[in-house]
Amino acid sequence: MNSDAVLPCAHSGFGPLPRRLTRAVTVGGVQVGGGAPVVVQSMTNTDTADVASTTKQVAELWRAGSELVRITVNTVEAAAAVPRIVDKLAMMGIEVPIIGDFHYNGHQLLTAEPACAQALGKYRINPGNVGFGKKKDSQFATLIEFAIKYGKPVRIGANWGSLDQALATRLMDENAARAEPWDAGRVLREALIRSALDSAVRAVELGLPADRIVLSAKVSGVQELIAVYRELARRGEYALHLGLTEAGIGSKGIVASSAALGVLLQEGIGDTIRISLTPEPGQSRNNEVIVAQELLQTMGLRAFTPMVTACPGCGRTTSTFFQELAQTVQEHVRAKMPEWKITHPGAENLTLAVMGCIVNGPGESRHANIGISLPGTGETPSAPVFEDGEKTVTLRGENIAREFVALIDTYVERNYGARLAGA
Ligand code: SF4
Repeated sequence: MNSDAVLPCAHSGFGPLPRRLTRAVTVGGVQVGGGAPVVVQSMTNTDTADVASTTKQVAELWRAGSELVRITVNTVEAAAAVPRIVDKLAMMGIEVPIIGDFHYNGHQLLTAEPACAQALGKYRINPGNVGFGKKKDSQFATLIEFAIKYGKPVRIGANWGSLDQALATRLMDENAARAEPWDAGRVLREALIRSALDSAVRAVELGLPADRIVLSAKVSGVQELIAVYRELARRGEYALHLGLTEAGIGSKGIVASSAALGVLLQEGIGDTIRISLTPEPGQSRNNEVIVAQELLQTMGLRAFTPMVTACPGCGRTTSTFFQELAQTVQEHVRAKMPEWKITHPGAENLTLAVMGCIVNGPGESRHANIGISLPGTGETPSAPVFEDGEKTVTLRGENIAREFVALIDTYVERNYGARLAGA
């Protein structure tokens, strides 16, 4: 264990990426770690006690592609709502595992609402705030005992923002006695790692099998996260949940998460990921799922939906038509994917190109399964389409967008449908 394994790389042509082989953990039928594809997860931001809203958002996240969904369990009302949410989802045909996020009072909530303990697919326990002083060990033990009783896995999720202060103080004191003391940042990173690892040891001592433990140790800085997870991976075989905590809003959150997770995934570290984006006002919560999928797909680790290559545009194409076409195509294939997943498996590997002018348009379009090179300013108003490297048709006039989308559907029908029929 804890050795390098390989996982087939979806389409990069660079061969398989190395993966750190961790212990496989089964979360409600979904395998995390043990060489399984990296699992996408998300978290709701509804009041869990509001059964209708939470069920609706879990369903939306699941439809967007979230394979695990975490919900806050912070009150008795929220704990009582959990089995009802799980039942409602099952009635809708949605079997996504629900993870309960516990802080401070998880031991009381599970004791008060054992049906919650039964309904959840996994418990997230934060070792930094599971309890304080003398109560910490017994409250942690209560949560682990519920996990043992109901056969559930747990994520021991340490967080920079709620670091175990007693442990941090002890490590600071030990550090002060070193001949060559570490800097404070290194001591705090060590405290975060030790908080997760020591809690896992304690859980195993209490009787929880090691293959029911997932670890995380989240920070909000990119370099800190990379350092912490490299160390966490080096020291153990536990499946790892990867995420930059409090990543931020908009492009900052996406870039920071992708930079940190990209480095770690490239090194084979990480068995499940969550992108902790702050939604912009009015923005769908689903964005965190889409970013997670696109990160894994652009790295060649998994394929979820056809990817569109589009040029950025420049002074050679002053119309916004090609931008609109790129957006139309991306939205079309994303909307069609749930259906294609069943009727045309493999369509998620389709590559598309929407290009703005003759400079790189034909060349990039030839590299895609199906691509279109639109006319730049002053060019002949025609748009050649290329399929698997060959020019097949030239589109002109008002209906280029509609006709190109129809060509995509036909391509999927012919290629992936044919594979299905011939299978
Ligand atoms: S393909 Fe043409 S329009 Fe697009 S960025 Fe390159 S030169 Fe500009």
